[in-house]
Amino acid sequence: MRLSGITPSGHPHLGNHLGAIRRWASDGGPDDLYFVSDLHAMTTSHDPARLRARTSEALAVLVASGIPAERVFVQSDLARQLGALTWVLECTCSFGEAARMIQFKEKGSGRAGVRLSLLTYPVLMAADILLQGAAEVPVGEDQNQHVELARALARRFNGSYGEVFAVPRAVLPPTGARVRDLADPARKMSKSARDAAGVVFVLDEPDLIRRKVRRAVTDASTDVVYAPGERPGVANLLEILAGCRGGRPADLAAEFASYGAVKEAVAEAVIETLRPVRERTVALLADAGELARVRRDGAARAAERGEQRLSSALRLIGAGG
Ligand code: ATP
Ligand code: MG
Repeated sequence: MRLSGITPSGHPHLGNHLGAIRRWASDGGPDDLYFVSDLHAMTTSHDPARLRARTSEALAVLVASGIPAERVFVQSDLARQLGALTWVLECTCSFGEAARMIQFKEKGSGRAGVRLSLLTYPVLMAADILLQGAAEVPVGEDQNQHVELARALARRFNGSYGEVFAVPRAVLPPTGARVRDLADPARKMSKSARDAAGVVFVLDEPDLIRRKVRRAVTDASTDVVYAPGERPGVANLLEILAGCRGGRPADLAAEFASYGAVKEAVAEAVIETLRPVRERTVALLADAGELARVRRDGAARAAERGEQRLSSALRLIGAGG
C-alpha cells in the first residue's frame, strides 16, 4: 500500500501534475491513499483563510486528476489521531535525530522565530505514514531522509514495545521527472517560489500559460538540441513536452527548427494536458456539497484504517485504556 501527499503551501503546479499527481492517478493500487498535508503547511508563517482555500483546491485537484474519491483525505481531519501518534513517536525519537534533518537545517537553523513544528514535522510525517500502515512512500529526493526517519522509528518502536508498524520505504521518482522553473531552470518548479513567472499552475488560464511559456528562459543558441547540462532551459521545455505528449526529449528536439517553435508546441501541449484537470477542478470547487462529501468520506475511511494501530501503539507504550 502506498501513501503520498501534497502540501497546500501554494497552488498545485505543472511539476506536481507531471511528477506526482498524474502518476498517483494512473499507477495507484486499490489500497493506496493520497492526502492533502495541510498540517505541514503550518510550520512557517501562514494565513489561516488562505490555507483553508488552498486545502480545498488541492483536494479538488487530486480528484479532478482522476484519483478515485475514496482514496483521498485531508490530513487535519485526522488531527486527533495524528497528534496522539506524533507524541508517541516523539517519545521514540531523539532530539539529535530530528535536528539532523537537512530540511530543518536549511530552513530553520539560525533564524529567529522558527516554529518548533519545523523541527518536529518529520515526526508528524512519520505518523502520517505509520498510522496508515503504508509500505511504500513515493517522494521526491528532498523527502527521502524523512522517510528514513519513519523507517527508523517504526523499527525502534516495534523492537522496544511490540510489532505494530509496517516498516515503510521511499520510492523515488524516475530521473528526469523533475520539472524546472521556466524563469530559472536551476530551480525546480515549486509552489513556494517567490516569483510565479516561471511556475505554471494547474488552474492557470490558457493565455497565461502561453505567456509564461513564451517568456521561458533559454539561451543564445538557435539550433534545438537536448543537452540538460549545457542548455537547461531548452532541455526543461523538451522534457515538459515529452511529459505531456510522450516520446523522448532528444527525439522531440529534432522536430523543431527554432526555440520559438518549441515554445509554441510546449504551450499548446501544456494547455491541453491541464485543460481537463482545470475544468473538473473548477466544477468541483463550485460544488461545495460534493467536495464536503468527498472530504467527510475520505476522513472516515482513513480514520478507521488507523484506529486499531493507534490504540495498539498507545497500549504497548504503556498509555491508553
Ligand atoms: P513546496 O515548494 O511547498 O515544497 P512543491 O511544489 O515541492 O511545494 P510538494 O507538496 O512538496 O510540492 O510535493 C508534492 C509532490 O509533487 C511530491 O511528490 C513532489 O515530489 C512532487 N513535485 C514537487 N515539485 C515537483 C517538480 N518541480 N517536478 C516534479 N515533481 C514535483
Ligand atoms: Mg516540496
